[in-house]
Amino acid sequence: MNQHNPFQNALAQLSAAKKYVKLPAGVWDILANAEREVTVHFPVVMDGGHIEVFHGYRVQHNSLFGPYKGGIRFHPMVNLDEIRALAFWMMIKNAVVDIPLGGGKGGVIVEPKVLSEQELERVTRGYIKAIAPVIGPYLDIPGPDMGTPPKVMAWMTEEFKVQSGRPLGKFKVKLKENEILATFTGKPVDKGGSEGREEATGRGGLYALLALLKALNTTNKYQLSNKPITVAIQGFGNLGYHFAKLAHEEGFQVVAVSDSKNAIYLPQGLNPEKVAECKQKTGSLAKCLCTDKACNLRNGKVLTNEDLLELPVDILVPAAIESVLTGENAHKLKAKIVFEMANGPTTPEADEILAKKGILVVPDILNNSGGVTVSCFEWQQNLKNEHWSLDEVNRKLKKKMVAAFDAVWQEAQKKKIDLRTAAFVVAVKKLAERIRN
Ligand code: NAD
Repeated sequence: MNQHNPFQNALAQLSAAKKYVKLPAGVWDILANAEREVTVHFPVVMDGGHIEVFHGYRVQHNSLFGPYKGGIRFHPMVNLDEIRALAFWMMIKNAVVDIPLGGGKGGVIVEPKVLSEQELERVTRGYIKAIAPVIGPYLDIPGPDMGTPPKVMAWMTEEFKVQSGRPLGKFKVKLKENEILATFTGKPVDKGGSEGREEATGRGGLYALLALLKALNTTNKYQLSNKPITVAIQGFGNLGYHFAKLAHEEGFQVVAVSDSKNAIYLPQGLNPEKVAECKQKTGSLAKCLCTDKACNLRNGKVLTNEDLLELPVDILVPAAIESVLTGENAHKLKAKIVFEMANGPTTPEADEILAKKGILVVPDILNNSGGVTVSCFEWQQNLKNEHWSLDEVNRKLKKKMVAAFDAVWQEAQKKKIDLRTAAFVVAVKKLAERIRN
């Protein structure tokens, strides 16, 4: 098995649950195979006037609980197996957090950073034109992921409006304005988005982390520092930044963050908002470190992304890409808890090593489910023509995250299994029940 193939890793995680839930082989087969996989190739006119053909995917893994749901990734390393894995994890995640949505995911092989604003818009519109026949408010609802911030989601919605006005075949029905909005989540708030969606994945993660610390409180089995608890975060994009900011506000000591180029480490802790302001100005985390007395980021070190993973912290938070903790580096980890926020950051081989080292791994399919939960709220608000306040969104999000954490924690205690397998058991039981009925 290729340990860096995320889809193989995802299926290995599913297999691990087989020991704990007795189901006919056919049910496992249904869960392991996507209902539909769409590959698209679409032309884009570049600024120089020439045409480039881009390649993208939309994988619709499973619709047992409702319309397919999952983000769209714009990244140069996108490939079909990665999108398959992400769509599969969406099915599991949505079942864990108990929302009426299935699992899907999309992606385009593109490096957004090298495109002009106009080229990025044309790539976005080209992809949506290509997948328009297979998405819709009751069929498949794309959302944000790496490289697809709110402005990109707004272009997608506008393009879908254009495309949905065109004949798409004999099943075409005319969509209302609110149904067009409900086809995408992660939109800007003034364009039909939900309050709190942008930071929802980070906020949901923090709710899960606080629930974990409460559950561990009685034993301190993992010997966490007496306050402040130290945290290193790989990835400083939408998810990493918001998680870092909220954790800092909650009193955690964020000592390291990284982007795709490098990491910065400040043992005394850093202020994520100040770091983000600086990165915005200088374009680089490394350039934000300084020596003068008035500076917020004094006495820091520049590290590689790999070094960050090995820092002696209480909690390591991978929040960038998949398969960063592997059989090669897992034995070097010094963190006491790996709190996964990216999708699929730990390979099954690394999971085994970390378990032997006594490092607690808290899984992605629980921790980052706050993003899709508020996406679900956004979809529901659009369909009902409602707009919920930030307080209402956060209250509902907290309730969902705490309930999901408790279900997974109790399953793990009852069966004496790791939290990832427990999350799979919780999800698979619900999905199997739906298959039976
Ligand atoms: P983003 O594009 O906003 O940020 C990605 C971050 O990762 C950036 O800081 C980037 O520099 C860094 N990065 C990219 N390639 C890297 C590499 N090779 N090594 C280290 N760092 C690298 O994306 P995001 O929305 O923050 O998503 C990050 C992760 O969270 C992904 O795994 C995504 O699937 C997952 N996720 C995101 C959401 C969401 O709502 N945004 C929800 C659930 C899960």
